[in-house]
Amino acid sequence: QTEPSYRGRFAPSPTGPLHFGSLVAALGSWLFARQARGQWLVRIEDLDPPREVPGAAERQLETLAAFGLVPDQAPWFQSTRGGAYALALDALLASGDAFECHCSRGDLEASGGVHRRCVGRPRPGRLPAIRLRLPDGERAFHDRIQGDVRQDLGREVGDVVLRRADGFWAYQLAVVVDDADQGISDVVRGADLLDSTPRQVYLQQRLGLPTPAYAHLPLVRDADGRKLGKSLAALPVDGQDPLPALHAAWRFLGQDPAQLPARGTPKQVLAAAVAGFDATRIPRQNHWSPVQEK
Ligand code: GLU
Repeated sequence: QTEPSYRGRFAPSPTGPLHFGSLVAALGSWLFARQARGQWLVRIEDLDPPREVPGAAERQLETLAAFGLVPDQAPWFQSTRGGAYALALDALLASGDAFECHCSRGDLEASGGVHRRCVGRPRPGRLPAIRLRLPDGERAFHDRIQGDVRQDLGREVGDVVLRRADGFWAYQLAVVVDDADQGISDVVRGADLLDSTPRQVYLQQRLGLPTPAYAHLPLVRDADGRKLGKSLAALPVDGQDPLPALHAAWRFLGQDPAQLPARGTPKQVLAAAVAGFDATRIPRQNHWSPVQEK
């Protein structure tokens, strides 16, 4: 069956080269989109200049292309989208959903970093952050891979920052505005963002925006559960020799290795991948081991 309105995306932050975890997210979102005969977009999330590496976005796009993962439209750059975020922020301030906050990190320590009520006072030379008020009470959404996810936004998350005190836009606002403006129907991304989804759904509702379907892919960790940053899986993927990593990402997504040709161009391998992709095989969790590369 065709779903012509499917629009998916891959949204890397340009903080370094593409690593295995980002390849899994790129390939996973691409496979869902292609199998639904939909579109696949790339959005560069360059909102945090202090964490960004010059040239990283261009290199990420080149590496994706070397893997045969080419977006259907020119990539969006969040650094050019401030006007859209400002409009959304104004609407939230006008409705009383958002508010100015002078709390410092120290002010939030007493409540475990969870903001529930302002205790901070304005300080000279420091701009307030703008936060979104998050209500108490459990909310749920259904994830295609992870199942039902519940969270009490007020108690577990607290009021989230929409614009930081240093003037930078927060990811949570930008992702919601851009997913809507790009007409994204399906968000497929790493499970590290599962926890952020209920607040994004709430923000969509407050802004009167549609909620996409969500599928959170297993997070790449190595066998002893070490964080990606400390493991071999954090090494850049090699655009000069894409096949081993492509096969490893395919297996990491729980897919049948026999479906993919051992040789060929990335395009040929990807064509076989779309034909053989079975979303129901994707595990909720998985481990990465270097042996998979062999
Ligand atoms: N830019 C985010 C990251 O690199 C991903 C955002 C998303 O997919 O919603 O982790």
